[in-house]
Amino acid sequence: MLDRRVIRDLEGQVAPSNVYTRPADLAAYAYDAWGASGERHLPDAVVFPGSTEEAAGVVSVCAVHRIPIVPRGAGTGYAAGASPSRGGVILSLARLNRILGLESEALRIHAQAGAITAGIHAQATAAGLYYPPDPGSSTTCTIGGNVACNAAGPHTLRYGVTADFVAGITAVLSDGRIVRLGEGGDISASGLLSLMVGSEGTLGVITEVLLRLIPAPRSRSTLAATFTGMERAAAAVAEISEAGIVPAALEFLDAGALDAVRKAGGGNIGGDSAALLIVELEGDPATVGADTEAACTAITRSGASQLQRATEPGQAQRLWAARKAVSAAVAKVQIGKVNEDVVVPRDRVAELVAHTRDLGIKHELPVVNFGHLGDGNVHATFLIDPRIDGERARADAAAGELFETVLGMGGSLSGEHGVGAAKLEYVERQLGPGTVELMRRIKTALDPHGVLNPGKKIPERQSVSSSTASSEAA
Ligand SMILES: Cc1cc2nc3c(=O)[nH]c(=O)nc-3n(C[C@H](O)[C@H](O)[C@H](O)COP(=O)(O)OP(=O)(O)OC[C@H]3O[C@@H](n4cnc5c(N)ncnc54)[C@H](O)[C@@H]3O)c2cc1C
Repeated sequence: MLDRRVIRDLEGQVAPSNVYTRPADLAAYAYDAWGASGERHLPDAVVFPGSTEEAAGVVSVCAVHRIPIVPRGAGTGYAAGASPSRGGVILSLARLNRILGLESEALRIHAQAGAITAGIHAQATAAGLYYPPDPGSSTTCTIGGNVACNAAGPHTLRYGVTADFVAGITAVLSDGRIVRLGEGGDISASGLLSLMVGSEGTLGVITEVLLRLIPAPRSRSTLAATFTGMERAAAAVAEISEAGIVPAALEFLDAGALDAVRKAGGGNIGGDSAALLIVELEGDPATVGADTEAACTAITRSGASQLQRATEPGQAQRLWAARKAVSAAVAKVQIGKVNEDVVVPRDRVAELVAHTRDLGIKHELPVVNFGHLGDGNVHATFLIDPRIDGERARADAAAGELFETVLGMGGSLSGEHGVGAAKLEYVERQLGPGTVELMRRIKTALDPHGVLNPGKKIPERQSVSSSTASSEAA
């Protein structure tokens, strides 16, 4: 519970109507999309600043009273990053939601951090330009959340992640100081800009972003192919790659994901197929035409059961429908899930998918896999009913075993969702004690009192195992 004087100070920064403290109002801010695992924590207050200066005022009040501050975009994060695990103040960017301007000549767009990502896509498209990062949540997530998590998406394969498109940031530091980094401010500060991207609210509150755009591709074609098994889909990807083609997207659904989409009313996609592969090609018309032919040959040679092809946006949308529907379908067939976004070398995706199936059998949980096959990024999802005793624990055990396998394959525990609180205990296992210590030192330098999103992304000293602690001390 916050002291009444603190609440008055917060109200003094943003007006009383922009400070929530009633439990009924706070309940919706107790979780993000990771809440489907059953984890919830009530904040003490939710505050809605209407400008960078107001956000700075809110941070200053919290800094003085050493109150945790959890920046929050749309709460679509899959790592409990926006969940207030230590209580405190949720700083919502919901009112900072405007797109401030698009400069066609300079190929850039300037937006407040709470602007919805789909709005950025729409404005860029209307100007004949393109903003490629396209998380599956783009109609709801915020651009600030994307920058904070360094979001990726289907088009990462060809164009890169959010970090590749961030030209500038305005942020509030842990003591309420406002900084402008990158092209919008001091260009020599680009290293500092990189530090903020992907920092998951632990180093600063991002209030504005300046993004790079590229010219829109003049032509696009989409292919959807079904296979009797993941191995054949993976073989098709290898053939496409050997043909020298770099698609804009290479997405997949496994048998469990296709089954969930069917059960949720998505029709009998691909009959009884065990894998769906979606390939999108973009560029100038001649290249797209030639690449489409070559990709069709590769897919057919790999033993596809069915191959469909779209050149019109309406047809393409239909081919993408199952991939776009999968998260909602999973939520329809089971109320809870523990979903991971591990990465392995892409020639090992089929092997990993088979391993998750074995884990599902061992821990008696249904498993769904889908994701960005081109990047080796697998959204391995264990379906649970968190109300049933032991289901969450079994899913956590399965996820732990999955992580061991992934690290053994030379992979990574998160391709795009970030660490948040959900993967905190595995960070050191992947990065090693030296890197974790470097992260801690950067955190301490920028946030000496640990008020910005504590307990997220960066393991704190007390969570370090004793053997590691003694080797570091030595
Ligand atoms: C259906 C679905 C599909 C998804 N598909 C993808 C995908 O394809 N690719 C992908 O990368 N992710 C995906 N995600 C995950 C999620 O949408 C992204 O991580 C997204 O970037 C989070 O944005 P948000 O605005 O919801 O942030 P939130 O969930 O509100 O916050 C996420 C983290 O960022 C911090 N944060 C948010 N805003 C700010 C800010 N302004 N300043 C500082 N820190 C901030 C928070 O403190 C938290 O740590 C998906 C999620 C869902 C539900």
